[in-house]
Amino acid sequence: MTVKINEYYLLLKGNYIFAEIAERVENYQTEHPQANIIKMGIGDVNKPLTHAVIREFQNAVKEMSKADTFHGYGPEQGYQFLIEEIIKNEYKPRGIELNENEVFISDGAKCDTGNIQEIFSLNNKVAVTDPVYPVYVDSNVMAGRTGSMNKDGRYQNLTYLPCTEENKFVPELPNSNIDLIYLCYPNNPTGTTLNKEQLREWVDYAKDNKSIILFDAAYEAYIQEKNIPHSIYEIEGARDVAVEFRSFSKNAGFTGTRCAYTVVPEEIMGYDVHGHTHPLNSLWKRRQTTKFNGVSYPVQKAAMAVYSSEGKNEIKELINYYMKNSAVIRESLKNIGLNVYGGVNSPYIWTKIPKNMNSWDFFDLLLDKAHIVGTPGVGFGPSGEGYLRLSAFNTLKNTKEAMERISNLSF
Ligand SMILES: *Cc1c(COP(=O)(O)O)cnc(C)c1O
Repeated sequence: MTVKINEYYLLLKGNYIFAEIAERVENYQTEHPQANIIKMGIGDVNKPLTHAVIREFQNAVKEMSKADTFHGYGPEQGYQFLIEEIIKNEYKPRGIELNENEVFISDGAKCDTGNIQEIFSLNNKVAVTDPVYPVYVDSNVMAGRTGSMNKDGRYQNLTYLPCTEENKFVPELPNSNIDLIYLCYPNNPTGTTLNKEQLREWVDYAKDNKSIILFDAAYEAYIQEKNIPHSIYEIEGARDVAVEFRSFSKNAGFTGTRCAYTVVPEEIMGYDVHGHTHPLNSLWKRRQTTKFNGVSYPVQKAAMAVYSSEGKNEIKELINYYMKNSAVIRESLKNIGLNVYGGVNSPYIWTKIPKNMNSWDFFDLLLDKAHIVGTPGVGFGPSGEGYLRLSAFNTLKNTKEAMERISNLSF
């Protein structure tokens, strides 16, 4: 007997970018033990959970220790207490009405954005922005929806929507019929946003073409400007065409604690081969109740504390801290004449690399000359070549030190 593997896994691009970065940094550090390396590459927060969150987390853990307050399996879709707070605090204030059965609590937006493609046929045409959060692409590769990768770094059956300086990082509507469109705003990696009018064009496209938008709003809490939508449901008609992914990872530091949620409005329909409609909400519910057994009770309690008045203040402080770093990075890079994008409504700064140097050459130069680690833009897709991502997830002290070092370089 020989066990056959899922061969689509063989189509994945080898050497995941963050592994490659880690290897280069480790090699450099071994050769230069004195170098004080500042890491501005990684997309992980560095501040601990806040007091309000920790207190509820601990209380809930204590409850688990007593028979009369112990919790076993909870609802797969999440506890009512958390769903209610999400609707009340995230959506109601923006004029968005959601039913409780439209919110699905999960252990991560990464998991949800990776899993959602399961409920769609393999025959759907998929579009992603380029550069892009790699999960959307790789989960479709694994499912067999993309074919193999061309020499230019693009998968055969995937539509890429370039986002570059030339189009000010606003993707153009596809000129062919696309079924599933992944959008992420504020964007990782570019840190750029779409305003309401720009996002409305996508909702209108989806309505006209019977497409579905998979909208990742993991960085929603970083939005500072007025005309930037926090939720796609702020756009009229989006309930018919959009699924929204949110997470407690980047706003409340839950990257190691794990809690997120996905909104699937009851109106969104998919079609079977006979042309009959089926609500996506039922399919996603079936998927989650079958393959997922809910987020742990203490974690959901901890997430709920994000919505207490103390919690809200603490979260605001966290975001302000990172946004100050963002501003420091933006200003410093601008001052040395670089073209800088993002960082206004997001913790990521995307910079054009001077002198037509490529992403990895510039990565090596920064590491060698300034002992700073960024993320090469090309790791997020072919249109990221020639760019570098810096993240604001660091201490203010390190951020300032890093910017001083960069300012002393001459390109
Ligand atoms: C960090 C991040 C997430 C959050 O993932 P979790 O699994 O909730 O930690 C989702 N989408 C994007 C684009 C991200 O950068």
